[in-house]
Amino acid sequence: SDEVEGVPVEALERHAELAELADEANWRYYVLDAPTVSDGEYDVWMRELRELEAAHPSLATPDSPTQKVGAPISTEFAPVSHLRRLESLDNAFNDADLAGWLARAERLLERDPAPFLCELKIDGLAIALVYEKGRLVRGATRGDGRVGDDVTPNVRTVANIPHRLKGDVPELLEVRGEVYLTVDGFERLNEQLVASGKPPFANPRNSAAGSLRQKDPRITAQRALRMIVHGVGVWDGGPPFPTTQSGVYEKLRDFGLPVSDLYRVVPGLTEITEFVEHYRQHRHDTEYEIDGVVVKTDRIELQRQLGSTSRAPRWAIAFKYPPEEVNTKLLDIQVGV
Ligand code: NAD
Repeated sequence: SDEVEGVPVEALERHAELAELADEANWRYYVLDAPTVSDGEYDVWMRELRELEAAHPSLATPDSPTQKVGAPISTEFAPVSHLRRLESLDNAFNDADLAGWLARAERLLERDPAPFLCELKIDGLAIALVYEKGRLVRGATRGDGRVGDDVTPNVRTVANIPHRLKGDVPELLEVRGEVYLTVDGFERLNEQLVASGKPPFANPRNSAAGSLRQKDPRITAQRALRMIVHGVGVWDGGPPFPTTQSGVYEKLRDFGLPVSDLYRVVPGLTEITEFVEHYRQHRHDTEYEIDGVVVKTDRIELQRQLGSTSRAPRWAIAFKYPPEEVNTKLLDIQVGV
């Protein structure tokens, strides 16, 4: 068959088609907070894109959706350059993917990467908060990872985001985490939206994003938003940076930042799998929606050695549960029950 620079035309065309679909979906999801395809469908496109690029590496250009984070930001908010790039996460969909991730880390490090920190993957909106001398000075969305939307007045209305940190804190601290709406809050909000003739949000994640990215922060203040912090971008001055991810969480908690209690440090693949299976069964026991589990090498030294690809750290992986397509409550609302 026909080829262009060694790539079959069929593969080129399919790649272009999928890339266009993914770019369009990203814009609807990240900028409009109104996706028109399911996460499952989107993930299938991305998987096929990655397979095409694995077979034909020249297709993995920097503008491919597989190489990028999020989507370019809207023009509604002031743009903010992040102090350090915000990343996405690579995905595992089964035990073989998980074992493959672990084996790659071990090969790169030439040692066992254990122990691992397992935690929940909160289906919220990624936000970076900057604290100068313990004072909250900025909140921004992830955007494309380098430039986000300045949503400082909005994050100030989120109940559990402290405006001032406690104790001996870094001179400059940038933390990352998820802003979410509780499942109850999401359902109540949709009921209110529908009652006032407005379209409901597709899922809690989009409702959190739509609620946070409001031009009028008074509207944000009315939504039951919360945050959980799960990473640090910048830590300058003050106490020494902890040597483990779990140590980071303890410190952030001491500073008064909201950190999850539902993480566990485990020695290896068997226990990671147990954690994944536990929360597969208890997926709906948390007040926020989760779409999987995140596994990180606990030792910061190993995180530094492993580093990142163009879009995601090599020291972490997201194990994703199969998406639940139908939110029955939402369906009830849409048909007016
Ligand atoms: P992702 O959701 O797969 O994971 C990366 C993000 O997870 C990070 O940016 C971080 O903010 C977040 N996260 C949550 N809990 C975390 C924790 N404990 N530790 C670290 N990070 C944590 O990647 P993404 O790039 O944000 O989005 C891609 C996904 O979004 C797709 O797989 C799909 O499910 C969805 N999506 C859907 C559409 C659609 O049209 N339906 C479009 C675009 C994206």
